[in-house]
Amino acid sequence: MNEFSKYADDVLEYDVLVIGSGGAGCEAAIGADESGATVLMIDKGINTRSGATITAGHTCCAALGPGDTPDLHFEDTLRGGHYMGNQKLVEIYANEAPQRMIELDKWGTNFDKKNGDFYLIESPGGHSKTRSLHVGFLTGRAIMGAYRKELRRRKIDKAENVLVSSLLTNNGRVVGVTGLNLHNGNFIVCRAKATVLATGGAGQLYAWTTNPLECTGEGYGLAYEVGAELVDMEFYQFLFMQVESRIRHMNCAVGIVHVPRWRKSIRDTGIKLVNALGEDFIEKYDAVRGIYTTRDRISIAVQSEIIAGRGPVYLDLTSVPKEVLDKEFGDTAGTWLPELEKEGYDLSKEPIEVAVGAHHFMGGIKINEKAESSVPGLFAAGEVAGGVHGANRLGGNALSDIAVFGRIAGINAATYSQSTEPLGILEEQVRVEHDRLYKYLNGGAKDGESSIKLRKRLQRLMLDKVGVIRNGEGLQEAIDEIAEIRVKQLPRVVLTNNAKSYNAELIDAILLPKMLDLGEMIAKAALLRTETRGAHYRSDHPATDNKNWIRNIIIRKVEEEMRLRAESVVITKVKPEV
Ligand SMILES: Cc1cc2nc3c(=O)[nH]c(=O)nc-3n(C[C@H](O)[C@H](O)[C@H](O)COP(=O)(O)OP(=O)(O)OC[C@H]3O[C@@H](n4cnc5c(N)ncnc54)[C@H](O)[C@@H]3O)c2cc1C
Repeated sequence: MNEFSKYADDVLEYDVLVIGSGGAGCEAAIGADESGATVLMIDKGINTRSGATITAGHTCCAALGPGDTPDLHFEDTLRGGHYMGNQKLVEIYANEAPQRMIELDKWGTNFDKKNGDFYLIESPGGHSKTRSLHVGFLTGRAIMGAYRKELRRRKIDKAENVLVSSLLTNNGRVVGVTGLNLHNGNFIVCRAKATVLATGGAGQLYAWTTNPLECTGEGYGLAYEVGAELVDMEFYQFLFMQVESRIRHMNCAVGIVHVPRWRKSIRDTGIKLVNALGEDFIEKYDAVRGIYTTRDRISIAVQSEIIAGRGPVYLDLTSVPKEVLDKEFGDTAGTWLPELEKEGYDLSKEPIEVAVGAHHFMGGIKINEKAESSVPGLFAAGEVAGGVHGANRLGGNALSDIAVFGRIAGINAATYSQSTEPLGILEEQVRVEHDRLYKYLNGGAKDGESSIKLRKRLQRLMLDKVGVIRNGEGLQEAIDEIAEIRVKQLPRVVLTNNAKSYNAELIDAILLPKMLDLGEMIAKAALLRTETRGAHYRSDHPATDNKNWIRNIIIRKVEEEMRLRAESVVITKVKPEV
């Protein structure tokens, strides 16, 4: 028997709860543990093997190279983010990234070395120095392996296959969470003095994405529901990506164009982007840099061709000599050529179909220098938190960001938990959430809406109207359609099966309200920002407006209403040019 036994199958209690076991979650759990708190790390997938971090391939940036300094990394990150980053956070990030990377190396990441020193490779566009640490092309996998070892050494408790479905509050403070055990259908209540959201990004809100399936973005909705502020929600980074089913999981299109670019050796070999008419179109969009333009420009070019009816679009390497392909992509274990060959894909014969997908969310839960959200007891770190990358993230900056702010969140959550009296969990909140989840399993109406179809409709809507190219009319249409889904279709969702275990329909039904909230946040912020900046491209406002828009958009739920306001960017060191 437990105190909520009417509803909950399990009731747990910890000082600090960490939701998410990607890089940010691991750092947070380690930070809380080393600060003397009891910690539970919860993931809806397999612990340390779910989420984006393990899939990250190329690069992890920190000022560790000759002639490099955290100040230079700070400036590059700020400029790359088009001056939208909170300068206090960016400074902490750039200063602490080197020590986090050295520690990760010690824990077993074993970054590539040359003569005993880190072997840094030229960094993606926007970095003024060579500062990319890497482990071949499987950097994320090596990092997660190191975290796994360190978590094991510390004997940190974990719960996996548990989908956190709501945050519980008392007197304006977050005091715990509810969750559904996806394996056995049990309802779980966990009490904690501090909770860290490290739930990652939201690529799965879009029909095309580089992100793995777990990145459904409910962390943003969880925070929004309890009144936390969110920042920069209009800034989503999109990438062109391969869409052919055999190779969709590989993220190879970006790698093929950009990794050789860093090595500078296959320029002018014949690599091109062609549309359905066979036209090599990229120079229409960037006459100077052509195929070697930035990732966001390629994405806009690809999407423009598709919108103009000249799709599908292909990345075509069929005229690149075989020996160049072998040299560039065949020599290092884990690079694309052998992987593509394994799937029966011959780059010298088959062009790769590409489209534009959601890649990285710069916006997120607004945090301060302690990784605290605006709601007491709630901390956030990693991709779910906003404020570091501003309007666009430089390649390689995410992996070091999640390490820096994950650790900060864990340490401060522990400190908070040690200085605060526990508050009780309100049974009524538990009941409401329990009933929300289990109502779907009680049969329901015979005819109704499929949660899976609604999720797919939302994903398509987001890609078409709130994607890489936006305009006022499309954004308003998206907002209206989201409202319609919420009011008309959502209440009619029924499941075709009542399975409690790994029921995809049930999971979509549970997540849909938060995905709709998130879609609305992105669309409304994008509509409000009447300019183009970084990853936010408004075809009806193509110019950057420094006079009016060196401001962040903040979103908060107030009395069931989504409120938006613009406030000045936090500037401590570098004044943006107006
Ligand atoms: C294909 C790809 C390549 C990339 N390459 C690079 C790169 O080379 N360099 C770079 O710097 N960045 C790269 N990035 C970006 C970077 O990997 C991510 O921004 C970063 O790893 C996010 O880490 P995180 O810990 O915040 O989230 P994740 O690693 O995504 O972890 C979040 C975890 O939270 C769990 N979770 C979510 N919601 C819930 C819930 N409701 N209940 C319980 N658990 C939940 C998920 O299951 C997941 O395990 C890449 C991203 C992708 C997708």
